[in-house]
Amino acid sequence: MFDLSSRDIQYVSGVGPQRAAILSKELNIRSLHDLLYYFPYKYIDRSRIYRIHELDGNMPYIQVRGRILSFETAGEGRNKRLIAHFSDGSGVIDLVWFQGLKYVIGKYQTGKDYVVFGKPNIFNGRINIAHPDMDDPAALNLTTMGMQPYYNTTEKMKRRFLNSHAIEKMMQAVISLINEASLPETLSPDLIAANSLMPLTEALRTIHFPTHTDSLRRAQYRLKFEELFYVQLNILRYAKDRQQKFRGYVFGSVGKHFYTFYERNLPFELTNAQKRVLKEIRRDMAVGRQMNRLLQGDVGSGKTLVALMSMLIAIDNGYQACLMAPTEILANQHYETVCHSLQGMGVRVELLTGSVRGKRRERILEGLLSGNIHILIGTHAVIEETVQFAALGFVVIDEQHRFGVAQRARLWTKNERPPHILVMTATPIPRTLAMTVYGDLDVSVIDELPPGRKPIATLHQFDNQRTALYKFLREEIQKGRQVYIVYPLIQESEKIDLKNLEEGYEQICAEFSDYRVVKIHGKMKSVEKDEQMEQFVSGAAQIMVATTVIEVGVNVPNASVMVIENAERFGLSQLHQLRGRVGRGSDQSYCILVSSYKLSDDTRKRLEIMVRTNDGFEIAESDLKLRGPGDLEGTQQSGIPFELKIADLAKDGQLLQYVREIARQVIDAGAVAEHDILWQQLKKLRKTNVNWAAIS
Ligand code: ADP
Ligand code: MG
Repeated sequence: MFDLSSRDIQYVSGVGPQRAAILSKELNIRSLHDLLYYFPYKYIDRSRIYRIHELDGNMPYIQVRGRILSFETAGEGRNKRLIAHFSDGSGVIDLVWFQGLKYVIGKYQTGKDYVVFGKPNIFNGRINIAHPDMDDPAALNLTTMGMQPYYNTTEKMKRRFLNSHAIEKMMQAVISLINEASLPETLSPDLIAANSLMPLTEALRTIHFPTHTDSLRRAQYRLKFEELFYVQLNILRYAKDRQQKFRGYVFGSVGKHFYTFYERNLPFELTNAQKRVLKEIRRDMAVGRQMNRLLQGDVGSGKTLVALMSMLIAIDNGYQACLMAPTEILANQHYETVCHSLQGMGVRVELLTGSVRGKRRERILEGLLSGNIHILIGTHAVIEETVQFAALGFVVIDEQHRFGVAQRARLWTKNERPPHILVMTATPIPRTLAMTVYGDLDVSVIDELPPGRKPIATLHQFDNQRTALYKFLREEIQKGRQVYIVYPLIQESEKIDLKNLEEGYEQICAEFSDYRVVKIHGKMKSVEKDEQMEQFVSGAAQIMVATTVIEVGVNVPNASVMVIENAERFGLSQLHQLRGRVGRGSDQSYCILVSSYKLSDDTRKRLEIMVRTNDGFEIAESDLKLRGPGDLEGTQQSGIPFELKIADLAKDGQLLQYVREIARQVIDAGAVAEHDILWQQLKKLRKTNVNWAAIS
């Protein structure tokens, strides 16, 4: 048996030290294993031969068979090129070389049969193929060649002739190596048998050099199966370890605070979804294992209330609770909501943010340590080391996708036992992603909005239709409503963006000089922000011009119009979050997406989805499809734990679910240690990847 990972790529025939260095630098390919797992991104059917008269400049790679009529050189200096006029009897095309002219003339002859392979282009009204692959038809077996693999390469690689074709040649060398040596199987025999999977060696051979689409599909299936299986095995095994290792605080009783609030202070009936989720949380916290729960609920679904009532359960059991929010504005707002909701109940609530300093901060730190403070609300400031609790039993993280994994992990160490943790998000995570990125979290969903909400009407307008827009805003304001106008703020062009915001603000002030307009952006001091926010919350100001600092959480029920400028520059989930700032009261609300006239296809699709649906889950799924998981907001910071080489979370959701069940059975049966193969693979996986699953 031989170990692919320990074999250096440079000893493969046709590689050598120079190419090895490029492969390592450009693609992170160092060992035979790395190379073998560098899969083609597409295949081109080489069993079909085109006739020259069929060709046009829009075709992908094709092949034709014929003869060179004559050679000709053209151009001077850097423009010098060799042209071969090539015909199959149905027409003539030009084959063009810009490099290695002497070599080409020496190698190919007129009057001899060739199969020419390449991408047709049109130049000066004639079809040409630049740097084609030329093969002697006698040396090709076109029927068995079937599909030719195509590998991604970088510009640097192409410049050194390390193109897809070169990789294909290397791959052939590696495949003949593994055909001779026996490659250790990476899945246990019973898994392979039970799922009729293709053996590993065959799958690797087939994925690079398939002869039929059927076998290609089976090879892909086997490799995806394996990839997703180990991801799930890793996550679920970790989750089980953790359950065994950490005992959770037992919140056995629901007592005075919870019931007092429920009976006296609760201003409305809980929705059924809120009740269900509260039950799930209560059950989790009562059984002695540490709760690690993700609460998903669309914007405005009432997550805060669930969090608050869960905190009261912690207090009823003699513990403290902490609520962490990503921005000061949001932390402030939670603080006010919570204080207001708990009026007269004797619960001490404090706010800790970066701007709380000096004496006040000291008093809070003391209160936490002595246990006098029951609930701490704050920003990142709450995870600083100096913040110590007497008995922290429950932590809520609001809009969790705004926090990095490492930040969240620090909450774990605040106590001898980790507290129960509830992370909340209004950016729905597609199920497949939730199962991988947050694989060991239990998930609760609030799938119902409080009664009486009208769906937000969303419109898309081009930015030259301002008169109508302003007229509409004025009508809404006259009805007593308030308006948000949001500008993008993206780091790379922060200056330009701020300028846009300032200009927009001036324009709005001029247009609506009879009303009060406030302005908020991230660069302002927090006192200033608070002061502007306050004017809007109290209704003194009718219009707020802002950057995305208001994206998360802000709750002003009287605001009924959200105008998003340069909407083409926002991602789907961000647009959805922003839209969620309105529609919080009982009035009809509007979201107006303003964009320039020129839009890319993707952008047009994004805006269309927004106009069509208010359903956050549908939007999240579309987002995953449009952008791929790596790009999804939140996954970058939370760190997708690995790079998937073949499985695709947007497309392989069903398979993922299936292998997750199998992985669970393996774990429940205690079978990992039994099967050496599984164990060895897991160890390898853990060595190469940071174990993100460990942290949530
Ligand atoms: P989100 O889930 O986006 O964080 P919030 O918790 O901010 O939503 O709730 C949105 C609004 O809905 C708040 O004004 C809140 O008071 C109100 N709300 C929450 N639950 C209910 C309910 N059961 N009935 C009516 N209104 C509710
Ligand atoms: Mg919220």
